[in-house]
Amino acid sequence: MKKSISIFWRRKKIHYAIPLGKCMKCGKVIYPPMRRCPYCGSEDIKVIRSKGIGTLLNYTISYFRKEGDEASLPRIVGLVRLDEGAIIPAEIVDVDPEEVKEGMRVEAVLRRLSSDDPYGLIYYGLKFSPALNK
Ligand SMILES: [Zn+2]
Repeated sequence: MKKSISIFWRRKKIHYAIPLGKCMKCGKVIYPPMRRCPYCGSEDIKVIRSKGIGTLLNYTISYFRKEGDEASLPRIVGLVRLDEGAIIPAEIVDVDPEEVKEGMRVEAVLRRLSSDDPYGLIYYGLKFSPALNK
């Protein structure tokens, strides 16, 4: 499935970094960054960049393949609590489904997401891999 290059380009900050919003009033960190804090309503939000390290809260194993999706199945998808405090959905890679565990430390890694066709553009983005000693 062909993607729009311009849409992918406009979303590059989300594909290649993890922007977070830090409320300067209550201190909560939110993902994605919003103009208003969902906890206290403050509009004093500072955009910060996550270091990309966190803990896998929970996960599921998916056997579903979207059109144009190149990921090998089964695929592990889960929720990661970043060390900054925000919780984000993420694909977990470089670990077998039998070895993945809730509470394991994970870090963001750059991985191939998809391509237009065998000779087309290749799209990369962030996934999460087990983190050693982090
Ligand atoms: Zn707040």
